[in-house]
Amino acid sequence: MSTIAENINQLRDKIRLAAAKFQRDNTSINLLAVSKTHTAAAIEQAYAAGLVNMGENYLQEALEKQAQLTHLPLVWHFLGAIQSNKSKEVAENFSWAHAVDRLKIAERLSRQRPPELPPLNICLQVNISAEASKSGCSPSEITQLAQQVEQLANLRLRGLMVIPQPSDDFAQQRAWFHQTKELLTQINQHLTTPMDTLSMGMTGDMEAAIAEGTTWLRIGTAIFGSR
Ligand SMILES: *Cc1c(COP(=O)(O)O)cnc(C)c1O
Repeated sequence: MSTIAENINQLRDKIRLAAAKFQRDNTSINLLAVSKTHTAAAIEQAYAAGLVNMGENYLQEALEKQAQLTHLPLVWHFLGAIQSNKSKEVAENFSWAHAVDRLKIAERLSRQRPPELPPLNICLQVNISAEASKSGCSPSEITQLAQQVEQLANLRLRGLMVIPQPSDDFAQQRAWFHQTKELLTQINQHLTTPMDTLSMGMTGDMEAAIAEGTTWLRIGTAIFGSR
């Protein structure tokens, strides 16, 4: 078995254990393989081990790998911040965008989404731990943004995404994710169609995210090794 396949097996065991421990339905926890900086061959191994959802942060790198992997039915997620001049290619080449934090970008994505494709799934990135350096919409402005994005024809507003400040403290990790979950519930009261997605948890904080209701774990290092 390849190292990547072994990693995925171990990761699945870990997710199953955490799901049982925190009384989560294991099937509601989806696994997104974050393949940034790793090769198309590595992605093929992850696919062979059963993963179809791949997350990329850098547009050019992602498009090159997509071109090499057209023979596989992969579902591509864009995880990076989206600049205006990149929105068209994101709208044309991905199924999900996880880091939308401005109306202007959402409007461009909706306008540029090809009509023959299903709506682009959107997560709004929230700056939950309020670090000056991180992107993401502030919790105080997110409800209005969600209401506006919900109106856009070619997008489907699915949920919230967070990258909290790194911490080794399980209770602190959990606190950020708990706030995110509460925020989702709050915003949903102001939407016509409630959001169903929490994109939270990476290699270092996945158990805390499982405890607090993640529906997309975004895992790079534990699958592909260090970058
Ligand atoms: C790189 C990255 C990940 C994966 O991080 P790991 O710690 O390697 O699991 C998840 N989400 C985003 C947005 C990333 O940029």
